[in-house]
Amino acid sequence: MNPWLILFLVIVVIVLALWIPRYRLRRAVAAPFPEEWVHILDRNIGVYPNLPKPLRLQLRVLIKQFLHQKHFSGAGGLEVTDEMRVTIAAQACMLQLNRHGGLYPRLKYIILYPSAFVVTRSEVDGSGVVSHGRKGMLGESWQNGKVILAWDNVMHGARNFVDGSNVVLHEFAHQLDSETGSTDGAPLLAGKSSYRSWASALSGEFEELQKDARFGRRSLMDHYGATNPAEFFAVTTETFFEKPRRMAKHHKELFDVLKSYYRIDPRDWQESS
Ligand SMILES: [Zn+2]
Repeated sequence: MNPWLILFLVIVVIVLALWIPRYRLRRAVAAPFPEEWVHILDRNIGVYPNLPKPLRLQLRVLIKQFLHQKHFSGAGGLEVTDEMRVTIAAQACMLQLNRHGGLYPRLKYIILYPSAFVVTRSEVDGSGVVSHGRKGMLGESWQNGKVILAWDNVMHGARNFVDGSNVVLHEFAHQLDSETGSTDGAPLLAGKSSYRSWASALSGEFEELQKDARFGRRSLMDHYGATNPAEFFAVTTETFFEKPRRMAKHHKELFDVLKSYYRIDPRDWQESS
């Protein structure tokens, strides 16, 4: 065959391979937002009716993109429905409002169990002792493109958006964190000065929470955040979205850093938390 013809065909294949996914995504995002999905948001996402209209519209676009790009599968006998997909996508996309990067580019799969799922883990304690155990989990975020969730807890967290506990916000904060290549409590930030203010705001608060946990003192953030910096970022994300007023009042520097990172102020729609 003529080598020029072969080159031409190769170029056509490459162009099509690049163009078709973008065309499909544009088409999915441009499609009308189904009325049934609006009912799901109104019914299941406690905070959705309070969002300013521009954010609601933005959220709908992100949900369409998310549902086009991510694959859901049920485990433990669960059959995944649109209600589950939309409820999870809406909460995951809350973390992406006003941000213009990829939408969890590494994430491919969301695996959904009906309720807490059991995993086998090896853990090393402070004295170096390795233990192997089975424990119940409500959610897990993997760096290799997977998030695992327990549906009953997802639903509880979605409807109660003011108690500071939300498994979807938590696991997707881990996904943002892992975009740097390591899950260590420092997600992708713009510039060295951002990393400096991030470290300054988070490290002091992390140490305070560790003390609160050690001495059994009450704290705004869940003591689970004292486990390590990655869990601290995930837990502070839950608190930022669900208890923004109290966080701004009692942890102002931390609140300001998260507000600048997430580019939103949840106090605009959280009336009393
Ligand atoms: Zn976690």
